[in-house]
Formats: sequence, C-alpha cells, structure tokens
Amino acid sequence: MPGPKRHIETRLLINGELVESEKTFDLINPATLEPVAKVYEASEADTNAAVAAAKASFPAWSALSVEQRAVPLKKLAQLIRENHDELASLEAMSMGRPVTHFFDAMEAASRIEHYAEAGYEVQGTTSIQTPGYVNMTFRQPYGVVAAIIPWNYPLLFLAGKLAPALITGNTVVLKSSEKAPLTSAKIATLVLEAGFPRGVFNIITGFGNISGSILSHHMDVRALTFTGSGRTGRLIQVAATKSNLKHVLLELGGKSPAIVFADADLDDAVAATVQSMKQNSGQVCMANSRIYVQDSIAEKFMAAYQKTFALVTMGDTLDPATNHGPQADAVQHETVLRYIEDGKKVGKLVVGGEAATEHDGFFIRPTIFTEAPEDSNIMKEEIFGPVVNINTFETEEEVLAKANDTEFGLYASVFTKDIDRAMRFAKGLESGVVGINCTSPTHMKDGPFGGYKSSGSGREGYRYSMENFLETKAVCIKL
Ligand code: NAD
Repeated sequence: MPGPKRHIETRLLINGELVESEKTFDLINPATLEPVAKVYEASEADTNAAVAAAKASFPAWSALSVEQRAVPLKKLAQLIRENHDELASLEAMSMGRPVTHFFDAMEAASRIEHYAEAGYEVQGTTSIQTPGYVNMTFRQPYGVVAAIIPWNYPLLFLAGKLAPALITGNTVVLKSSEKAPLTSAKIATLVLEAGFPRGVFNIITGFGNISGSILSHHMDVRALTFTGSGRTGRLIQVAATKSNLKHVLLELGGKSPAIVFADADLDDAVAATVQSMKQNSGQVCMANSRIYVQDSIAEKFMAAYQKTFALVTMGDTLDPATNHGPQADAVQHETVLRYIEDGKKVGKLVVGGEAATEHDGFFIRPTIFTEAPEDSNIMKEEIFGPVVNINTFETEEEVLAKANDTEFGLYASVFTKDIDRAMRFAKGLESGVVGINCTSPTHMKDGPFGGYKSSGSGREGYRYSMENFLETKAVCIKL
C-alpha cells in the first residue's frame, strides 16, 4: 500500500550531489488539487553545471568495462523494485495515475536489468573483402547524452533512456517533465545509493523553455533523446541544427487507428481497444483514439465498447478502488474539454462529453463520438484524453485510406481472422508499429518502437536503443 500523503521537497542531482536551486515551483495533485510538493527548478547555471559534470565524468566512465558499468545499474534496478510503493504514490500524486495501474517500477527495473546484461550486444564489424586491407568498425559512445522526457510514463521513459545510454559508456543529463517530476526526483536519491561515480548520471527538473532548451542548444551535448509532443520535437530538431548538429532521437505523438473487421473476435477486439484508451485516462501516445468498425458489426461493437469504456471509478488516485485518474493538469483538462466541445459540433456524442465535476480534480468522463468527419480536428489531432472516435467502414481500400490519412504514424491495429488481410494491412499501414489482433506493443520485448511520418524519427527499444547511443567509426588496416 502507498505511504501516507505528505508534503514533498525535491532536489536536483548534479555531479553526485542533491542540490537546491534558486527558484522553486509548487506541484498540485491533479486528483485532489492539494499542493503536494515544492520542486526545485533548474536554472541555466544548474543545467550547464549538470552538462559539465557529465562531460567531466565521461572519460573514466567510458573506460570501464561493460561489467563494471552494469554494477550500479543492477543496484539501481533493485532499489527501484524495493521502492515500488513509494514510487506508485509519487506518480499518483504528481500526474494522477491510479496506484492500481502502476506497473512502471517493475517494468523500469526489468528494462534496466536487461540493458545491464546486454552491453556487449551491439558491436562493430570486420571485413576482409577489400584486397590488401582489413576493414573494421568500432562502436563508441557519443559522450554527453541529454534525455528529455514527458509526464505520462516518467519512470518508464527515464529507465528506457538512461540504461542503454549508460551501459554503452555515455554519461547522461536527464530532464524530467515539470508536470511529473516526483519519481525522477526519487530516482535521484536512489542513484546515490546505487553507487554511480559522480557526474555520470545527473537528473534535473525544470521547464522546457529553460533547461530543456539549454540542453537542446548545448554544444557539449552530443546526442539527445526526446519523448514528447511534435511541437517540442520540432523545436529540439531546430536547436540541434542551429548548434552542434547533435544526434537527435524523437519519439512523438500519435492518432492511432484500430480497424475491426466483421470476422474479428469481437470480445477480444473490444477488450483490447477499450484497454488501449482507458489506461492513463487516454494520455498514451499509442492509444487507439480512432476506431474503424466494419458496418455489419458496428452496432454490436459500439454497445459492448460503450459498456466497458464508460464504466469507471474516479477518485483519489492513492485509493486502490480508483481505476480512472484525472488529466495531468489544468492545461490538459482544458485542452481535452475544448476538443470535446469541438466534437459535439461535428459528430454525434454517444457517452460522456463533460468534466466529472462531482470530483475536485481534473477528471473527465470517458467520451465516445461517432460519425465525426474524417477531416475534423477530433479525428486529425492528438487529444491525449479519454476521448475516442468510432466510425464505420465498408471496404478494405476505404478503411486503409482513412487510417493512413493522418500526419501521425506511431501505432495501428487491425483485428481480423483472415491472415492474408492481416498481412496486407501490416504492409499497407503507414505506422512504425502494427498490432494484429492486439493493441499494445509492451509485450514486444525485442522489437523497435518509433514513428513513421510526424510521429518521430529513429527507433527505441532494446538493441535499437543501444544503437542510438553509439557512433560508428570505420578503421582500415593496410596489410
Ligand atoms: P511536451 O513536448 O510538452 O514536453 C515533453 C518534455 O519536453 C518535457 O520535459 C518538457 O519540459 C520539455 N520541453 C518543453 N518545451 C521544450 C523546449 N522548448 N525545448 C526542450 N524541451 C522542452 O510533451 P508532454 O505534454 O510532456 O507529453 C505528451 C506528448 O508526448 C504527447 O504528444 C504524446 O503523444 C507524446 N508521447 C510520445 C511517446 C512516444 O513514445 N512516441 C510516448 C509518450 C508520450
């Protein structure tokens, strides 16, 4: 069970020390609107100090063996497991994830352990195909890596970025989101316990336009891994271009379609697509927020979907009975409500469509629209809330065109028992990840994750993440 509520004070982790900064901001619990934490905000000087510490610690860290670098990583994973309950309540109080839905600590620990074991997997090559020469490639760390993460799964993104960067010999400055800094701040204390050398892993909290922007422009940051919105991703890409052309990985937003054919297992399709929208109150980059159902089963699908989707228990996210959390903050809340009002003008509201005002927090009832025009903003833009559009289709050609008619390309699902059709869609969908009869790639432990089109550039996940943090050097030897 999570610990008692209390007022928290965070610190920045710079060069192996937990430090205060000049400015602080207050964090509000989005489920209760109570103030929960005083958060130290990284200034320009703090951000530069974190980069300087990472730069100074790079030569010694990169000179260690993989086994030596794995030691503090494995210890950190163990500490994360041991602190599961506290991390669950911190996430609940900062961005509103119900403690019952918190799987992140175990998943984060297992990701870190994976990388701690996988450090030798990405290697250079040797070629003797050129007469008179032996040609090789070396894979070498970039140096200082900056990681900028969003608020929706802070602990998972922290783990998924820091572990591959560190095991491959880079040093890291991680900036958590100003909306959800509490688990990262807790990890800062665990990093000290885990025994990382000073400066190897720095964690700062602050606002994007200050510390985020400084990291993006910094001449000593050689690679930057970002997860967040397309708007910020574009700013980071421009900053990298204007500064030192740092290597940039962008994991951005989505408007993921799910296509349900009449021959699909209806119960499975409903369960999977509801789950995709329900977790984190719709605040998931790959949530199936556009569902296309074949005409002949549309009525049945809608009835079953509505029944499960609308059935939620809202309340204090520290209460294990709560299974639907609030939107992360006032801005998210207002944005989602604005989209709902737009939806009412263009589509047919099936259920929900309002804030749950019986609660103090930023709660919104699960909302379903149907018959929204394909070119309306609720069909085209990422809402990032519990708002789903369910439209119908007749033919394969029609639905493939509709599914692909978007700037996004992060995730898509197709539900059918016809293997030929499933393969046609796997090939035809313009999406970085395609699920056939499933909606979540979290079980895809060894696959790449990333977006087509404006959903990002580059791939993360297991071996692919380590590739991101390694330069490739060609070495040729004349015999
Ligand atoms: P956001 O872009 O507003 O913020 C993300 C991070 O960027 C935060 O730490 C923020 O402080 C920082 N930032 C803001 N302005 C910056 C700037 N000018 N320079 C550098 N950094 C800056 O995104 P968000 O609201 O935190 O997260 C939601 C978005 O993230 C959604 O679009 C969602 O789809 C996307 N997302 C994508 C994935 C994925 O894997 N593709 C996963 C989760 C979330």
